[in-house]
Amino acid sequence: MSSTNTKLATKAIHAGESPDPTTRASAPNIVMSSTYVMDEPSGFSINAFEGERPYVYTRWDNPTNRMLETKLAALEGAEECLSFASGMAASAALLQGLLSSGDHIVVSDIHYAGTAELIRGAASSSGIESTLVDTTDLDMVRDSLTARTRLIWLESPANPILKITDIQAVAEMAHERDIPVAVDSTFATPCATKPLELGADFVIHSLTKYIGGHGDAIGGALLGAREILAKIRDDVRVHIGGVLSPFNAWLIARGAATLPLRMKQHSASAQKVAEYLETHAKVTRVLYPGLPSHPQYELARRQMAVNSGILSFGMKDGASYAARMSNELNIIHYAVSVGHHRSLVYFLDTEEMLSTAFLLSEELASRYRQYAGEGVFRLSVGLEDSSDLIDDLEGVIGK
Ligand SMILES: *Cc1c(COP(=O)(O)O)cnc(C)c1O
Repeated sequence: MSSTNTKLATKAIHAGESPDPTTRASAPNIVMSSTYVMDEPSGFSINAFEGERPYVYTRWDNPTNRMLETKLAALEGAEECLSFASGMAASAALLQGLLSSGDHIVVSDIHYAGTAELIRGAASSSGIESTLVDTTDLDMVRDSLTARTRLIWLESPANPILKITDIQAVAEMAHERDIPVAVDSTFATPCATKPLELGADFVIHSLTKYIGGHGDAIGGALLGAREILAKIRDDVRVHIGGVLSPFNAWLIARGAATLPLRMKQHSASAQKVAEYLETHAKVTRVLYPGLPSHPQYELARRQMAVNSGILSFGMKDGASYAARMSNELNIIHYAVSVGHHRSLVYFLDTEEMLSTAFLLSEELASRYRQYAGEGVFRLSVGLEDSSDLIDDLEGVIGK
């Protein structure tokens, strides 16, 4: 389907798909085949093929994965999309495809814990140097850039305290120095923010979260310009091999079809839950881009079309409430992950996050403590009735 002039909700359903030419099936097939029959003898190495190549082997490309990639590229307004076995595989592929020993990367201080650990671990052992900065502080970003900086890595809103980075401002600063910008937009989704339109060069998604949306398939995606992504596909995805299962691609594409509708409802329900928590006597702080009390509420209004469904809140004696939530909640699951139709909550103890995942300098750690206090409950508001979610929370924190 030509998807250039359609709106997001239509693209989410139709982009990348068309009725099966043989059977006229309306829903897409799942092509689980690992190999493809050749019309004539061809090369065996990916390097033997130039330009457009047929389907050869599913680690190289697969029609169902391609269907999902086309859909996601249409949603983000990207030239190209590569799917991966997980969000982490997509993140690792970008680092590996773009950077080499001696390069420097600037990374937001607060982000998904796995990303922090990847950059400190595997990237650092490959000789890639990193500087963590508070990317909401543009002077700090500017001061961190060196002649060897090859990438700025943002996450907005950032896990778990929902700090929002001004993507356009960072991209303008970076492009003056020819430095590309990558945005992990997992929490925003293209329904809230389109980083490429704001000047970013790469977008990363954990498809495990909102885009798949149902908590039943792990996957990741990297989006950006065609030429560099073709190189990352052939150099990294094919040979490191973190390819998405076509079955998961099919599940995730089915989830993506309802993404615009789900994001509206996630946002509307999260707003109600956030407002309930903000007036609760036992809650010390609520961080949600839809609340005027969010430190970057104005930026959120400019940069986010919907507020997404993830909020964080603090409570005095959080650890003991966490223990009670894990036993006493009836609807909300006490579990990691976000963006599912089921509501999920998890307590992130500040000192533990600082000593295991973030390992920040004293100054950055104190900025984190200002947001997070002794710890935050990260609540991913699902698609259940919001009044049932509020009752479920009240049953634990109201007592
Ligand atoms: C979950 C998540 C990831 C990692 O994705 P996986 O699919 O679990 O590998 C990366 N970034 C963010 C913001 C996430 O929430």
